[in-house]
Amino acid sequence: MTLALIVHGGSGDIPDADVEPHRRGVAVAAHVGWEVLLKGGSALDAVEAAIVVMEDDPAFDAGTGSVLNRAGEIEMDASIMDGATLDAGAVAGVQRVKNPIRLARRVMESEVTFLIARGAEQFAQQVGIPLSENAALRTPEQIANWQECLANPPAPAQARFVSPQGTVGCVAVDRDGKIAAGTSTGGMTFKRVGRVGDSPLIGAGVYADHLLGGASATGWGEAITRVVLSKVAVDALAGGPEPSEAARAAIERLATRVGGTGGVILADTAGRVGHWYNTSRMARAYIAEGMETVIASC
Ligand code: ASP
Repeated sequence: MTLALIVHGGSGDIPDADVEPHRRGVAVAAHVGWEVLLKGGSALDAVEAAIVVMEDDPAFDAGTGSVLNRAGEIEMDASIMDGATLDAGAVAGVQRVKNPIRLARRVMESEVTFLIARGAEQFAQQVGIPLSENAALRTPEQIANWQECLANPPAPAQARFVSPQGTVGCVAVDRDGKIAAGTSTGGMTFKRVGRVGDSPLIGAGVYADHLLGGASATGWGEAITRVVLSKVAVDALAGGPEPSEAARAAIERLATRVGGTGGVILADTAGRVGHWYNTSRMARAYIAEGMETVIASC
């Protein structure tokens, strides 16, 4: 089987000054995930490891450095899916978990699929994931960003554009040909308290089915949800097109049906990877068997 791994670090109007930290961050995450696959680890382990790296990197809108909601707090969402079994796990509105993707994985392994807020944090404690203070995840950059939004509240239609940081995601194919995908985010800058976007929604922000492939999405969550972007992208792999063609078809649907903006990464069962986006930038990195090194761009 052909090993492959692709990650993204968000799509949007990433400013010039943030390009290099994004590019570097996705490259490191892809390396870490790749090492897991090379050592015989599962696609799920690789996805989790790569996403943890980006959650811990304040360049990205996930885990530490997540954007703040209107109340000045972080609320994080994450999801993970096993393409071999169609098992999935998701959490939303989590405030005190440093690595929400780890929690999503534990939810996947439990009897339920989706836990939110207080219940998700209670579950974290039950399975031995320590809680951290919300304040410990807030970075000075995001506090300044929030203060700027408080002073000059963005018009509702503009609110989705104010964050240069990115959601993160990963799709991996392991030695057994199993595919997994995951997504983690702090959501949209200055979002309403309790707002949940596409990222933790199975089919919208993430999808994996090892008969076809796996996907992780980023961008304007309300639009992505309405077209179920990740499932649409995975279904577009039927018949064996290049994954970038399937990703393009999915993003075209996002744009034409609901005027949405965003990006999606894909890997298919043959270990081919691809991506597409209709924003000005998207941070991404990939590596597959036969390649000497990770290719990262933003
Ligand atoms: N899709 C995420 C959300 O709507 C945001 C992003 O990808 O940047 O919460």
